Amino acid sequence: MLWEEMNWAEFGELVPDKYDTAIIPVGTIEAHGVSPLGTDNLIPMEIAVRIAGDLSAIIAPPVNHGVTSTLLAYPGSVTIGSETFQQYMTELFISVADCKFDKIVVINGHGGQIEELGKAAERAWTAKRTKIIVVHWWMCCEDIVEEIYGRGGAHAGTDENAAVQAFRPDLIKADQYSDDMVYRKPDGFTTYPSPGTILAYKDDAGYIDFDQSKAEIYFSEAVDRIKGHILDIFKRWETI
Ligand SMILES: [Zn+2]
Repeated sequence: MLWEEMNWAEFGELVPDKYDTAIIPVGTIEAHGVSPLGTDNLIPMEIAVRIAGDLSAIIAPPVNHGVTSTLLAYPGSVTIGSETFQQYMTELFISVADCKFDKIVVINGHGGQIEELGKAAERAWTAKRTKIIVVHWWMCCEDIVEEIYGRGGAHAGTDENAAVQAFRPDLIKADQYSDDMVYRKPDGFTTYPSPGTILAYKDDAGYIDFDQSKAEIYFSEAVDRIKGHILDIFKRWETI
């Protein structure tokens, strides 16, 4: 159920009586190894599409520009300032709440805006008492990567690449990949710009094998887990 494809009268019929939850996919445009610049947008939208039915949710138009920083030097990367983004997201959450939604689920695809989304959610909750979940999707699925691939994930590496490959394999340029593209960030180092676009935060992590069936299994298990956590929170919220 896509918000932007309904007209206002249809929306008024459905919200909040039949649908009291809005899902907002959020990402950014930044370099991602051999995955597309829109990786952080494509994955949250696909997760939203896969879980919306079971959540009785309407999918809001996505926010596809976010806070890109260390990867901004790479061609095609775009950013919005941190304060502007936080303010924009706060006002968006409040306005979505004003459309009579009881719950908002934010599916975030980008690690560079976790703090901004957290503060925006807190401010909107405080102002409107609309319940909000912000999911940084890859963070609750790290053990699934290790179970399927025998190694940890990375920015634009094993897990993120697999997620895109699961539903858009045509966008993955395996022939442009080599293992030395994976940059193991030394602990304690901060660099502007980033020395690579596939970024591992631990040893022997992030390498990509491009196996289609493993990618599909990984993403499907990740989506199921995310949906499970959200439904559990919804149930617990019913008691307060
Ligand atoms: Zn990403």
